[in-house]
Amino acid sequence: MYSVPKLEDYSPEALDTASRELLEALEQESAAVQDEAECKALRDRWMARKNGILTQINDVWLKAAPSASKRQAGQQVNQLKKQVEGMVEVARKRLLFREMPATEIDGEMVGKPLVEIPVEALDSWLATQKLAAERIDVTLPGVHRELGVRHPVLRTMDEIVAVFVAMGYSVAEGPEIDSDYYNFEALNFPPDHPARDTQDTLFIAGQERRPQRDRLLLRTHTSPVQIRTMERLRPPVRVICPGKVHRNDAPDATHSPVFHQLEGLCVDTNITLADLKGTLDHAMKAMFGSSVKTSFRPSFFPFTEPSLEVSISCPFCGEKGCSKCKGSGWIELLGSGMVDPAVFGFVDYDPAKYSGFAFGMGIERMTMLRHNIDDIQQFFLGDVRFLEQFS
Ligand SMILES: [Zn+2]
Repeated sequence: MYSVPKLEDYSPEALDTASRELLEALEQESAAVQDEAECKALRDRWMARKNGILTQINDVWLKAAPSASKRQAGQQVNQLKKQVEGMVEVARKRLLFREMPATEIDGEMVGKPLVEIPVEALDSWLATQKLAAERIDVTLPGVHRELGVRHPVLRTMDEIVAVFVAMGYSVAEGPEIDSDYYNFEALNFPPDHPARDTQDTLFIAGQERRPQRDRLLLRTHTSPVQIRTMERLRPPVRVICPGKVHRNDAPDATHSPVFHQLEGLCVDTNITLADLKGTLDHAMKAMFGSSVKTSFRPSFFPFTEPSLEVSISCPFCGEKGCSKCKGSGWIELLGSGMVDPAVFGFVDYDPAKYSGFAFGMGIERMTMLRHNIDDIQQFFLGDVRFLEQFS
């Protein structure tokens, strides 16, 4: 271990030799530094203000120098100071360099073992290494945010709307909270009809003092929009009313207290049952494929006379019978009928002059059929795994 010798000879040659020995000792110690603690020890040993080797040469060499050699010794010691500081700094950088991981920059490995790096190149190597660490690869994919898609129910609704718009229908919308008058009375529901019961319909609370026709409720079908449209327009009327409706139903695989409907209305002179059948047959073929057949059976609705239940041939089995159609080969899908003349009375249309047909379908049910979904609740759970299948 190097210790500062006393100088007897202050000749330039002797000062040079002493300096060279000191620097060689430092180089050896510095090359042996393996970690941060050793690096700090090296710095302290050579540069500590109190009793560091630089301080010692100041005391031992400079202060002890005869006055004739003071100038010469002073210059030598100053130069050594700079050299020692530089070499201790190099030892620190070597250590930094060794701790940095090797990085590939433009096909070259940066961060090779320290011994291969010449001291004078250390600064530029370290600068390159710093750049490498801060480098941003603009070719990397960015943060990907998924685009949302239309909900499958709304998509089916859009498609049905498009089918009818192509046939010359326009789209009408109305309030989801409507009055008993528009939801029931004007549609020819008798005052004691079971649909008016709170078991089936969600009424707004606290309206007991209002006359029945003014009581507000969550509409149970989009038919009120038909009434509102007929109040507004004179025939010919061709309108579809898509929208959300509400029933006091407990949720299960086929029922939901909220669902979507699309109803349609066509009123003009000389509209017959043949127009109804042709229109719905076309719409069902457009939605389920041209091989699908339609079948019409008598039914009853307060606002149509006659009323027809519409079935389509099972698109899954082609009428052979399967679990989807419960073995019958047919699936009941729509309600329809010729508008009851009594309904025209509410909107001041002349039933002797005009006739029309109306129909309604559940959008969820259509969507379940088209995508082979067996639980209506899936539409409302908001489960992304389910919804993603439709993106
Ligand atoms: Zn079937």
